[in-house]
Amino acid sequence: MKKIIYFLLIVLVISACGNSKASEKEKTNKTEQKSEDELSTNIIINSNDTMKFDKKILLVPAGKKITLTLNHTGKFPKVGMGHNFVLLKADTNVSEFAEKAAMARKTDYIPEGDQTIAYTKLLGGGESDTIIFEAPKKGYYTFLCTFPGHWQLMRGKLIVK
Ligand code: ZN
Repeated sequence: MKKIIYFLLIVLVISACGNSKASEKEKTNKTEQKSEDELSTNIIINSNDTMKFDKKILLVPAGKKITLTLNHTGKFPKVGMGHNFVLLKADTNVSEFAEKAAMARKTDYIPEGDQTIAYTKLLGGGESDTIIFEAPKKGYYTFLCTFPGHWQLMRGKLIVK
């Protein structure tokens, strides 16, 4: 019987911890709302020789025309360290897409199909590309670099508000 009481106590303690985490989450949501004035229609995102985008979260307003520039600030050529920015439709399975993309060398790692909203050219060090696209409806969208082996590090979220 004692054991059961101890068990119940532990459960209570754990659920109390859970509650405090939930209120932390609420705080984060509030800060997210504050950053609404940071919605941007003109985005510059940099990538480098260490396989990184300098932004993981992009905030844009729904339905607006977005101008996005991808810079490759590294030195390596695109055959070894190519980078692109590929924005996926909301219902796309990211790992399946990335696998398919890695096979599509002839088309600069953009696979056949209609799973993308927009994408830049594949860039080597020192290159840039600018694209213009219409922001989709409110929601969360994944962007990634589809060069083989890069997507696990090089991806983020486009948040449409
Ligand atoms: Zn890349």
